[in-house]
Amino acid sequence: MSMQSINPSTEEILETFEPYTSKQIDAALEQAHTAFAGWRRTSFTERSALFHRLASYLREHKVRLARIATLEMGKPIVEAEAEVEKCALNCDYYADNAEKFLAPQVLPSNATRSYAAFRPLGVVLALMPWNFPYWQVIRFAAPSLMAGNTAVLKHASNVSQVALEIERVFEATGFPQGVFRTVLVPGSETEALIKDPRIAAVTLTGSEQAGVKVAATSGSVLKKHVLELGGSDAYIVLADADLEAAARTAVQARNQNNGQSCIAAKRFIVVDQVYDEFIDKFVKYTRQLRIGDPLERETKVGPLARKDLRETLEKQVQASLAEGARLATGGKRFGDKGYYYEPTILVDVTPEMTVFKEETFGPMAAVIRARDAEHAIELANNSIFGLSSNLWTRDIEAAQQLATRIEAGGVFINGMTASTPGLPFGGVKHSGYGRELSHFGIQEFVNIQTVWIG
Ligand code: NAP
Repeated sequence: MSMQSINPSTEEILETFEPYTSKQIDAALEQAHTAFAGWRRTSFTERSALFHRLASYLREHKVRLARIATLEMGKPIVEAEAEVEKCALNCDYYADNAEKFLAPQVLPSNATRSYAAFRPLGVVLALMPWNFPYWQVIRFAAPSLMAGNTAVLKHASNVSQVALEIERVFEATGFPQGVFRTVLVPGSETEALIKDPRIAAVTLTGSEQAGVKVAATSGSVLKKHVLELGGSDAYIVLADADLEAAARTAVQARNQNNGQSCIAAKRFIVVDQVYDEFIDKFVKYTRQLRIGDPLERETKVGPLARKDLRETLEKQVQASLAEGARLATGGKRFGDKGYYYEPTILVDVTPEMTVFKEETFGPMAAVIRARDAEHAIELANNSIFGLSSNLWTRDIEAAQQLATRIEAGGVFINGMTASTPGLPFGGVKHSGYGRELSHFGIQEFVNIQTVWIG
């Protein structure tokens, strides 16, 4: 079946791609495998120079690259440009720090000298999602390649233009042939790729469902894998919070990237004393968001990336209304063309309702009333997911105590969750396992080799 790039703002087909034939896939794997032998022997200085060059290229071509993403998946152009900038930052970060992060560590033992050294694993297969089509790839590629691995990217089927563009960017900046390859393959046909003996390890950023499949297949051939999956992050607002800041940030946290972010706050858990006041502000600022053509710089919310994603969100909202939630704003499509959906707030949501139990991937916020801080933590943890939570209170000591009890890969106090090169990123529970970014991320795809000298 062919893979289509569709502009979600106009529903126009931009380009149709045929999935790679088995011969093309074989050639790409062979190239990445062959390239590994030479790449692993390059020095950190050589790799670092290439990643700095890649960073400069990204900055120089930001406008063009961002436009491809906006056309293909609908994110507001200003956010797309910021995404490309962030990729450049990550390239510089690992170019500057990889050698330090992977320096051999001398460890005392019964040896004359013993240490742990970090060796690359080989070709890492990256299965990536469309929502941050550049960032998700560079987030993985910069540390993995700086560690001496090579990469094969299988991107989401709706962003093949970006997928091929990333491959061209690596070529254009002088990386040796085969160090980074893209293959166009539908998700349903990745099993053979994962099992191919030339693939050493696998990383998936995507849905829980894909995670289950990829974990099972990787496990069946005993390959290391990292899973960055979905989330239904809690955004807890306590009685002493700065409500104005909490409400303004809530709007951004929920609606950035048209509401399609794994780490977007999704369940807004607000204590009784400030519940109504928070909702008033949250609704007021949500209604001020400008919806429209994502190519316009003033646009804050564009369309959802695919038709089926809007249908799923609509069903979740309808089901929750039938289950007793109350609509505070939005709840309907916007315009007569494109996969637009108005920023929506459902209030009086309870744990039995669909939008509480499932991940919602679009501009839809669920507000839940908590009796007190204890109850708020209980509600936050009442989820199969655990990516990153937010906590709003002026009592920083108490917040840090509460953070110890939050089941999530991150807790952001008085601010919005965001990934940044220097901080570890990842989840617990059904949000996945393994970490990306920081020195933790670069150690995922290495062989920590013990060297013992008698
Ligand atoms: P998805 O449907 O799981 O797709 C992600 C990638 O996996 C795509 O390349 C997809 O290919 C592939 N895929 C799908 N089914 C597969 C299968 N059975 N076996 C192997 N690969 C498969 O997810 P999405 O809709 O693109 O992205 C949204 C999801 O990703 C949300 O749940 C979101 O929370 C999560 N996400 C997590 C993070 C994080 O860092 N934790 C970041 C971003 C997004 P096709 O497109 O060809 O199907």
